[in-house]
Order: sequence, then C-alpha cells, then structure tokens
Amino acid sequence: MDFDETPEEAAWRAECRAFLDQHSTVKAAGAPRNTMSTLSDDEHAHVQRCRDWQRTKAENGWAGLTWPEEFGGRGLTGLQQGIFLEEEHKYDLAVGMFAQAIGMVGPSIVVHGTEEQKKQFLPSILRGEQVWCQLFSEPNAGSDLAALRTKAELDGDEWVITGQKVWTSSAHVADWGMLLARTDWDAPKHRGITYFLVDMRSPGIDVRPLVQATGGAEFNEVFLEEVRIPKENVLGEVNGGWAVAMTTLTSERADIGAGHGDGFAGVLRLAQQYGRVNDPVVRQELMKLYTSYQISKYIGFRTRTAASKGIAPGPEVSTMKIAISDRLAFQGDLVESLMGADGMLWGSDAIDDGYWQTMVFMGQWMARIGGGTEDVQRNIVGERVLGLPREPSNDRTTPFRELPH
Ligand SMILES: Cc1cc2nc3c(=O)[nH]c(=O)nc-3n(C[C@H](O)[C@H](O)[C@H](O)COP(=O)(O)OP(=O)(O)OC[C@H]3O[C@@H](n4cnc5c(N)ncnc54)[C@H](O)[C@@H]3O)c2cc1C
Repeated sequence: MDFDETPEEAAWRAECRAFLDQHSTVKAAGAPRNTMSTLSDDEHAHVQRCRDWQRTKAENGWAGLTWPEEFGGRGLTGLQQGIFLEEEHKYDLAVGMFAQAIGMVGPSIVVHGTEEQKKQFLPSILRGEQVWCQLFSEPNAGSDLAALRTKAELDGDEWVITGQKVWTSSAHVADWGMLLARTDWDAPKHRGITYFLVDMRSPGIDVRPLVQATGGAEFNEVFLEEVRIPKENVLGEVNGGWAVAMTTLTSERADIGAGHGDGFAGVLRLAQQYGRVNDPVVRQELMKLYTSYQISKYIGFRTRTAASKGIAPGPEVSTMKIAISDRLAFQGDLVESLMGADGMLWGSDAIDDGYWQTMVFMGQWMARIGGGTEDVQRNIVGERVLGLPREPSNDRTTPFRELPH
C-alpha cells in the first residue's frame, strides 16, 4: 500500500487546484453548515448554480473527465477523477446535481447507445443542460432490483409505461430519467427488463416529493400512468436492460477513493464546545471515532493503490462501505450524547444550525442505505471474500410471472 501519491498524481492534484483557483475560492473553515432545506427557491437557485458550474467545466475541458475523448471527455482514470472530486469539494462551488448525468447515464450511453442517442444526449449532458434522475427502485424492488414490476408494452412506435418508482433522487428537478421497466413477464427476472431514456416532462408522469424526518425532500415517488416513450429511446436491447443497468451502477463507483473526508475534527470541536474532552469515557469514544476514520482512510489508500496499478476495485469497496456505515452509526450516537438535552433542539435553536441533528444523526441513513445497504455489502463479503455459498434461489431460471409476489 502506498501512503504517498505518485509524482504524476501529485502533479494532477496541483493542476486541478490551479483550475479551481481560477474559478472559485476554498470554502472558509468554521462551523459546519446544515444544507438540508425544503425551500424550493433555494433548491432551484442551487440547481442553476450547478448548471452554471457544469457549463464552465465543459467550456474549459473539465467535464466528463473519465469519458472517452471522442465524446467530449478527457479519457482520464477513475483515480484522477477521484482526486479532482476531492479538490472540487474543498471549494465554494455548487456540485452534485450532475452526478447521475455525468457519472451514470453518460457512460451507459457511451457503451450501449446508438449514434443518434450519443449525438442527442452526450454533448448536452456535458454542458449541464440536462439534469437526470434514476428511476430504478420500486416499493418492492430495492436491494432485489430485478424484482421490478413497472410494465412497458409496445404500441406502434411507442412504448407505454405504467408503474411506480420510489426514492428517486432529484426527480422533481430532473429533465430526463433512466428508467427500468419489465417488457417480458415470461423470461426469468433479469432477462425481461428494458432500459428507457424518458423525458421527465412527458404526460402521465407524476412526481411527488417525499419529505424526510430531516426536513429535506430530495427523494420522490414517481407515478407513471401510460407514459409514452418513442422506440428510439430504448438504451441497449429490448429485454437486455439488466446489462445496461449494471453499466450504470458500476459507473457510479468510478470515482474511486473520493469523498472519505475527515469529519473527526468537527466532532472534536463539538466535544470541546460542550466541555467534555476531559471526561475519560468521552475521550475513549472520541478515540474510537478517530480510529474508525483512520481505518476508512487506509482502506481508501488500498483501493487507490490498486487503481494506480490498473487493478479493478474488488470486495474491499464493500468493506469500505461497511466501515463507513458502522462509523456513521457510532458517530450519530456520539454527537447526540455530547450535546445531551441540546440534542433535542432543532434548526436555528440548535448549535451549528442543527447540523449535528440533521446531517449527522438523521442523515446517517442516506449513506448507509443508498448505493446498496450494509447488509447487502455483508452478503458480498460473505460470498466473495469468505467463500460462503450463495443463498439458494430459483429466480434465475423461473419465468418472472411464476415467482411469488
Ligand atoms: C440517499 C439515497 C438515494 C437514493 N437514490 C435513488 C435513486 O435516485 N434512484 C433509485 O432508483 N433508487 C434510489 N435509492 C434507493 C436505494 O437504491 C434503495 O433504498 C436500496 O437499494 C435499498 O432498497 P429498499 O429501500 O427497497 O430496501 P429493501 O431492499 O427492502 O431492504 C430492507 C431491509 O432488508 C435488508 N435486506 C434486503 N435484502 C437483503 C438480503 N438479501 N440479505 C440481507 N438483508 C437484506 C436491507 O439491508 C434493509 O435493511 C436511494 C436510496 C437512498 C438512501
């Protein structure tokens, strides 16, 4: 494992900083900010800032870093992109709204799209003209995504879609959606699914934001009632959507090693503010938290070292997710116990504008569930690292309509 960057990686980090310095400034240190908001004006302004920054990146050749050059990208590695994202997060910039467009659907169109689809979507995705959402999960198809029951039927030159999606991040501000629907009920469950590109303004789409306990509402339920999608908007083969979905989901992980920031300093500051740092039990808990941050940092180094040598990420990505999930659970309890009765306060009544209650305690489940729950990650480690047998199942051979529902 290498703890230092190679000279090339360090040079790339410096190049990223030089570009970012031209367009923004590093965020001021200080109290953490509670960015969870239900105010739609705020949100629309944020989306617009994200669009503007994405366009600036495109104009300067910094959009789609891992995309092939022939499609307007830079052809760089996931590791280089990870370094860029780490630096970008340090600056006062609006980011995040294009993660699904640039990180998920774009790479899927590059691999599976027709020439027309590439021309229609890729340049405008890079320029920040299209916010995308991912219409995969359903009320009974999350961890077991291939159990989805939204149906698509061909009618002339159009597919007609009816069903329900849930947990669709950003659907309420999205221009386009990547949609999985069942097109063959007699095939085994993974083989009867088709991947569609759907205009979110199509008649029959009803997006209803789900307000979370945090007060934020960035997920939605999406109801589809006889939504018509032209045949040209099938991505990949009809009934071959599972392979396309796998491209989408693995592309999501391309930014290897990014984002395992150090939140320990903030928790330590909170303990100091509450005068708890001399309490021996609190000191022990803080030490445990520090150790946990160090563990995920080193797992991140391991992933990066492998990536530097051209080795694809393996099950250590799952161990990383488990380590982070365990830490988020522990950290949530710790910050609440540090604040004592103050932990029950909310919003501007609370210290740091409610950041600890909202983003750290309640927000922990976003990262613990999104991108595959920690239980699912444990199954992966069980099967791929410990060599335990897969759970017995007949769902890979039985026609979908015969499976229990
Ligand atoms: C922040 C966030 C953003 C999201 N954004 C999107 C989005 O934009 N688009 C989208 O389509 N979806 C999105 N999701 C949905 C996400 O993919 C699902 O929540 C996730 O896959 C889990 O599915 P589920 O919620 O249906 O839970 P379920 O799959 O029903 O799981 C319920 C519980 O059972 C456990 N469990 C399930 N199967 C197993 C098993 N085989 N072994 C052991 N335990 C198991 C789970 O760990 C969990 O504790 C998002 C979720 C979050 C939290």
